[in-house]
Amino acid sequence: MTNHITHFIGGKLWQGKSARQGDVYNPATGQVTGKVDFADSALLEEAIAAAKAGFAEWSTTSLAKRTQVLFAFREILNARKEEVAALITAEHGKVLSDALGEVTRGQEVVEFACGIPHLLKGGYSEGASTNIDVYSIRQPLGIVGIISPFNFPAMVPMWFFPIAIAAGNAVIIKPSEKDPSAINLVASMWREAGLPDGVFNVVHGDKVAVDILLEHPEVKAISFVGSTPIARYIYETATKNGKRVQALGGAKNHMLVLPDADLELAADAAVNAGFGSAGERCMAISALVVVEPVANALVARIKQRMERLNTGDGTQGADMGPLVTSVHRDKVSSYVDAGVASGATLVVDGRNPKVSGEAGGFWLGPTLFDNVTPAMSIYTDEIFGPVLSVIRVDTYEEGLALINAHQYGNGTAIFTNDGGAARKFQNEVQVGMIGINVPIPVPTAYYSFGGWKNSLFGDTHAHGSEGVHFFTRGKVVTSRWLDPSHGGINLGFPQNS
Ligand code: NAD
Repeated sequence: MTNHITHFIGGKLWQGKSARQGDVYNPATGQVTGKVDFADSALLEEAIAAAKAGFAEWSTTSLAKRTQVLFAFREILNARKEEVAALITAEHGKVLSDALGEVTRGQEVVEFACGIPHLLKGGYSEGASTNIDVYSIRQPLGIVGIISPFNFPAMVPMWFFPIAIAAGNAVIIKPSEKDPSAINLVASMWREAGLPDGVFNVVHGDKVAVDILLEHPEVKAISFVGSTPIARYIYETATKNGKRVQALGGAKNHMLVLPDADLELAADAAVNAGFGSAGERCMAISALVVVEPVANALVARIKQRMERLNTGDGTQGADMGPLVTSVHRDKVSSYVDAGVASGATLVVDGRNPKVSGEAGGFWLGPTLFDNVTPAMSIYTDEIFGPVLSVIRVDTYEEGLALINAHQYGNGTAIFTNDGGAARKFQNEVQVGMIGINVPIPVPTAYYSFGGWKNSLFGDTHAHGSEGVHFFTRGKVVTSRWLDPSHGGINLGFPQNS
């Protein structure tokens, strides 16, 4: 018996019959658990028509009423977040506590968006010129498209839609086809919260649905998160079609450990950030750059901790779950083969792991390489799996140069007890999000999330004030209410007087 997962359009589940569907797996068993409908162009037209109607109503709804809906949504989400987490674990494979963590981080953006009346306040300059006032207002864009990756089926869409909706837009979300169920539950929560039909729509599918969102004239902006080649494609195609775009791409996050660091703290951090969610996080640490002479001591501590990690079914109390698909597991495993072939030292081998779970699951255990060099593919490429590489360097400068030369610039961390060194690092490193003795520095909702270099295309980061800016357009009004002194004909360029 498999679940049928379909589109959510105009406030209800779609009732049609889809010509194309995709398989959804439970990665912990390897079994197909669901069939998800794939959208075609007719379905997208339906979604866009519903969103247009939703926008007409919602964009003219007062801030007071919009805020009431946001607060109601926050309460429903908070009360039912275990249900969302369970759906994530069932289709993604991450352990339940981790799934719950991502819902909670997404909820923080909802809480930020509850303050939308304050966030949308404009400026007002009385008497900018004689008898003239100037003020600014921000208005919603219309229909916005959100295209999200498999690794955070709830949190990543929530980086965008709470603010987009609060600002008065209508959204169409195209979630990952690998774990599509969580967002449908979220859609039903919006309905319960009182959001007008058509403001929050979900279309499931693949490139066919994405390409229509990128090209359709009614879609005014695109927020994308996924791998770098697709992010680049999204950015180029959607901007060519006149849309506002923020496209967040892949990552290869470095953690730089200086010799004065607390090595116990650094070892805990490397293991947590390297293997949490089986390394399938855009903020995972995958390159551990250690300034000598502490590499031997740190590697020994990490190895010790890895021996205690339990890989298995995320619903049964494991530390680390499976990878998302067998194809992805095999790809990550092939990187381990490549690392061995290129001469890196395999300290812990995650291939053929002992697991607490069914044999058919997409398993790969935590893997640790030492003596990795910058030319190896396990260093240059985003692996997106539980593979941690240690690169030994002699100086801080050598470590910094490595990070700055890498194509990705999403997150990074420095471990040190020297405040001056940490401050120098935050100033010199070419990366968007920096942790100081913090391994996964995901900014809180009222700051903005985003990387540099090939980790982000477009110039706007997600949520925080940049998110509010992205989902609204500015207008500036110069106004004069006539008084008896208006001045007659003057063809010169207006000057303030
Ligand atoms: P992906 O690029 O394969 O897919 C992302 C989305 O794009 C999905 O909805 C997918 O259906 C769609 N898509 C896939 N191929 C497409 C194509 N050819 N044309 C149009 N649309 C297409 O990414 P993924 O495997 O789902 O997610 C993992 C990637 O996401 C990793 O690279 C990870 O670093 C990245 N990621 C980045 C961030 C960040 O904040 N920078 C956050 C989370 C994930």
